[in-house]
Amino acid sequence: MNQRPFDLDPLFRSITVLSGVGPRNGKLLEKLIGGPKVLDLLLHAPIDFIDRRFSCPIASAPNGKIVTMEVSIDSHIPNARKSLPYRVKATDDSGEISLVFFHANKGWIEKLLPVGKNMVVSGKVEYFQGFPQIIHPEIAKPEERASLETVEPIYPLTQGVTNKTLRKAIKNALDFIPKLPEWLDGAHKTQNGWGEWHSCINALHNPMSEAELEPMHKTRARLAYDELLANQLTLAIVRDRQSKINGRAFPTSTNLRQKVENVLPFILTGAQKRSLFEIDEGMRSPKKMLRLLQGDVGSGKTVVACLAMLNAVEAGGQAAIMAPTEILARQHEVSLKTWLDAANINYVTLTGRDKGKSRGEILEQIANGKAQIIIGTHAIFQKDVEYHDLGLAVIDEQHRFGVHQRLELSNKNKGTDILVMTATPIPRTLALTAYGDLEVSKLDEKPPNRKPIETLLFSNEKIEQVVAGLKRKILEGVRAYWVCPLVEESELMNLTSVEERFDILQQSFGKRVGLIHGRMKPTEKDAVMASFKAGDLDILVATTVIEVGVNVPEATIMVIEHAEHFGLSQLHQLRGRVGRGSEQSYCFLLYASPLGKTATERLNIMRNTEDGFLIAEKDLELRGGGDILGTKQSGMTEFKIADLTAHGDLLSTARDDAKLIINKDPKLENTRGKALKTLLYLFERDQAIQYFRGG
Ligand code: ADP
Ligand code: MG
Repeated sequence: MNQRPFDLDPLFRSITVLSGVGPRNGKLLEKLIGGPKVLDLLLHAPIDFIDRRFSCPIASAPNGKIVTMEVSIDSHIPNARKSLPYRVKATDDSGEISLVFFHANKGWIEKLLPVGKNMVVSGKVEYFQGFPQIIHPEIAKPEERASLETVEPIYPLTQGVTNKTLRKAIKNALDFIPKLPEWLDGAHKTQNGWGEWHSCINALHNPMSEAELEPMHKTRARLAYDELLANQLTLAIVRDRQSKINGRAFPTSTNLRQKVENVLPFILTGAQKRSLFEIDEGMRSPKKMLRLLQGDVGSGKTVVACLAMLNAVEAGGQAAIMAPTEILARQHEVSLKTWLDAANINYVTLTGRDKGKSRGEILEQIANGKAQIIIGTHAIFQKDVEYHDLGLAVIDEQHRFGVHQRLELSNKNKGTDILVMTATPIPRTLALTAYGDLEVSKLDEKPPNRKPIETLLFSNEKIEQVVAGLKRKILEGVRAYWVCPLVEESELMNLTSVEERFDILQQSFGKRVGLIHGRMKPTEKDAVMASFKAGDLDILVATTVIEVGVNVPEATIMVIEHAEHFGLSQLHQLRGRVGRGSEQSYCFLLYASPLGKTATERLNIMRNTEDGFLIAEKDLELRGGGDILGTKQSGMTEFKIADLTAHGDLLSTARDDAKLIINKDPKLENTRGKALKTLLYLFERDQAIQYFRGG
């Protein structure tokens, strides 16, 4: 049931109620602002503005500046040819200026700028062959001059939505703003000189100076703080709630663990041992465990997860491991099989692909406890999946899952210990917004015998050279990935599609080239993956479907085409597919020249380091948070105003604030608490509020 305070209703109405927004541009607008409601529009912040307040005589108008001036209309010079502009000469006491119109209708301009009349015109002054002109000026009658001399905010736009339309809708939306109870701490607010929420929203859309566009300007700072506080408060509530749930106390597995360790083809690294020790400790404690295992690609998380799961199994319970994709779930099955078989453990694999009878059988084994370990995709936590006694849930590559799923999972399995594994090294600030103060174990040491991956940059023109090099290496028995950004030829961006590249490489390398992309059927994908793994294919042409987790230690070459189109973290993930065995690995980054400044910087970082944490920090600096976590898809930490690169300090404050709030008023019942509930509803953290009900 929706308990949202009525006060907020206007903000949750559809943008199509606003003036100038209809069903068609409404859809475009919705995409642009990231949501369908009035509030989404109100949080769509301007990035610039046009200031029409400056005025001066024609003769002293500076080049490139927007000037508003009163002029007398002198004469019209219609265009001789359609391709030429229509010019209107205007003067004041100081000089003469041309008003320029392209594709203009003569009758319309004559009416707009009648000869002999005084008019106010406004626009950017440019000098053409030494004479000042304004192209397509804004125009008003002298008595309406005030309506022109304004500041017009400029918003991020999309095709089909003009700034005018957007501005009109926002002006209308501003009328919808309710006065909300203050959720900020009074002293904190005063100390920062922050205004009320509704006046800040108003100010956001009426900037009067450049300074107001800065992220740390007090208007934006307050709105960012609201967002961050809602985020941190949600996490604090979840955490508080979880710390109060009794978990199970699992003694550390000795018997089963010994059996598995006996068949491991390697010894654990120091980091793996330390992490496992921390996890064991968490599982031994009667409190519910919620721990993040952070480890760069190839750092060996799977075996740690496996050994942790044995704790639950040895105590007679079940353990589950959830991967974000079918491929990865199947791969986990392959990796775990030898180990689990050695310890005589029963396991099942369940993905979205299991239907009908086989699914029914798997569900039964999960429900009656015959399945001791459950491997799968999110299918393993669907509504109708009942566990006999789930002791530990491992969530792999967490960044593909949203906060919602995480909440659901812990709601469903109240006493279950949770281990979240992520291969994306996450900068501290991002980890905070995504997980709050989750306990973290770090695999910051790679398994031994790994040679550093050699990363080389090539411009596209040198592609022949890369192919020739590849040929030599393949004769030596090496396997390679070749990654392209898109599935099909796109006319907009001139990127090579995987299919085209596949054809070309087949011409040089024959049948031993495979192709894998997201539009293939899962069974087809598996078949290709399996032949590559088995060594029946030398080259695997792929899209980013191979990005996460895929493990073929024999593959030692990674070619990434149009590397400039990938984010740093993504490149790092992709590169992590090689360098998994003891052979020297290479990563070739191909780019279309000339490279822009940021792209050059990005690719240089890739060439210079393999440190995932450093790369993640740089990525955050260069691109902002959403891209790193892939949140555009998962909706995990999408902030509208807050910008983690600028608001890191606000984030820390919000975290402390949230902690204090939950300590003092855990159910948000006092005056500030009630206002904070409104804040949570405002940012649709309803799920956190549900926590106050039902135990
Ligand atoms: P990720 O952390 O990316 O999930 P994996 O668990 O897939 O990494 O491990 C990558 C590879 O390293 C696997 O082939 C795994 O068997 C191997 N590996 C894991 N731990 C060690 C270790 N301590 N020594 C040597 N190889 C290891
Ligand atoms: Mg993995």
